[in-house]
This record gives sequence, structure tokens and C-alpha cells, in this order.
Amino acid sequence: MTAPVVGVDIGGTKTAAALVGPGGTVLDRREVPTPARSGPDAVLDTAAGLAADLLDAGAGPVGVGTAGAVDPATGSIRYATDSLPGWAGTPVADALSVRLGRAVRITNDVNAAALGECWAGAGRDRRHVLLVAVGTGLGGAIVRDGRVETGARGAAGEVGHLPAPDAERLRCGCGRYGHLEAIASGTGLAAAYALATGTRTTGRAVADRAAAGDEVARQIVDRAGSVLGAALAGLVALLDPEAVLVAGGAAGALLPAASAAYSAELPAGWADVPLLPATLGADAVVVGAARLAMDPPDIDGRTRG
Ligand SMILES: [Zn+2]
Repeated sequence: MTAPVVGVDIGGTKTAAALVGPGGTVLDRREVPTPARSGPDAVLDTAAGLAADLLDAGAGPVGVGTAGAVDPATGSIRYATDSLPGWAGTPVADALSVRLGRAVRITNDVNAAALGECWAGAGRDRRHVLLVAVGTGLGGAIVRDGRVETGARGAAGEVGHLPAPDAERLRCGCGRYGHLEAIASGTGLAAAYALATGTRTTGRAVADRAAAGDEVARQIVDRAGSVLGAALAGLVALLDPEAVLVAGGAAGALLPAASAAYSAELPAGWADVPLLPATLGADAVVVGAARLAMDPPDIDGRTRG
């Protein structure tokens, strides 16, 4: 397919849609706050409205990357965090297909970001990639032979729940303690800083303080990066990717320490597998969703409608 297609990004704070050309170039883009507190129907209406604005110029199915775990068999949300109340159980693919009169292909937002980066970003021309997204939480996606690995329940690649050193006192988003996400995420940075200093702040603020020379913040950011980098080195041996990409708002802060630990821990057989910053930024999900829309049905994601 050579005509532009529409990709949609449904997140807990913002919803975006873009018209994406065949080379992965964003030709037009819309973004609004997600009306998360107004419930799933309002979120769906918002996403459909943005997509409809661009559909006159867009061909074929619409691609969607959404927060939450997507059931690959139904296109419904299996699980979602409190950032989108009521989102779990929502039949997003069917509901958007009805609203738009187009087939809808859907996947998790981190999976979409990985597809986007492998199409037009840091993973361009690579067919085997592990991507981790370090934001408020820690997500992951595995691209194998050019396709996102969905697993049995649409949740493959979730690296956040590996056991991690120094995370014993930190609570993971899943409710347990000692997981990688509990230390290597914005929430983890904030929690570790609160434990060390008694000061409550955001992960971004901890990263900013580290950059400004706050010694406690710097140690916390470096430790989080080191733990992440060592975990990624082990995962390289498991998954055998061509490259590992680090995306998300906290990626820049964690990458220096992560790169050092990654290089130190990488088994010799994989010494040439690079750890790279993702390059598409806020466009990664809409670009990857468009990529999903361009592909033949039922390969990278589920087609509905
Ligand atoms: Zn966990």
C-alpha cells in the first residue's frame, strides 16, 4: 500500500492521530487531552473524532496503539491501569470500527512504538528488536522477524516484572515488590528519592535534580540505569535481537548508566548488539499504529470490522 494511512495513539493523558506516509513520515497530526475521567465512551469518541478528521486523505484500515493490554483475539482491553478508568473490558477495535466505518487494527502502545521505531526510527531496517519504554512505568515490546510478538494474551515483552537488585523496598505497578519497574521507571525514581530523603516529588524532578548536581538524586538515577542496563544485557541473550532500543520520557536520564552496565554485562556472544536511544519521540506510537494499518490482516495485529 502506498497511500497515507491514519495511526491513532490512545494514552492516559493524551490522544493523538496522524496521517502517515508510506515511508513513515508524519504528514499531518492532531493531539488533544484524553478525557480519561469521563469514561471509555468519551475516550473512544475523542479518538474517533481525531481519526475522522484525517480519514479523507487516509486509505484502508486505521491503526491504533492504546494504553493497556490488548487481547489479540478480540481487540478488547484485557487489563489497564487507573490512568484510564474503565478501559479494561472495552472492545476498542470493534467500537472504533463502528464509529469510523473502517477496519481497525490495534495493539498495545509500546508494541506500536516498537513497530514505529523499526519502520522509521532507531530500529529502521532491523527485523529483530527489543524495545523498552521508561516512562511513569516500564513497558517492553519484542519485534521478531519484523512483527510484534503478542504472546498468548497480548502481553509478551513486559520486562517490568523481572526481579531486580535494590528494588526490595520499592513497590511495582503490579503491586508486588522488588521488580525492575519498581526501580527503573519514573515512579521508581520518585519512590527511591522519597525513601532516601523524605521528599515527595516526581520522577522527572528527580532526573532534573540529578542533572543539576543533587548527589542523592544522581545516585538514584545511576542505580536505576545500572539495574536496567544489566537486565537488558541478560535479555539480549534470551531474545537474540539485532538491537535494544530505549524509549520514553526517562530514557535520557537512565541511558548513561544503563549503557555502561549493559556493556559490562553483555555476554561475549552478543558483544556487537547495540543499546540505542529511540528517535521518534512522541510520534512513535502513531507511526507504528500506521505501520500496523498498512500490513496485511491478522499478521501484526487483529483486524476487526
Ligand atoms: Zn511487577
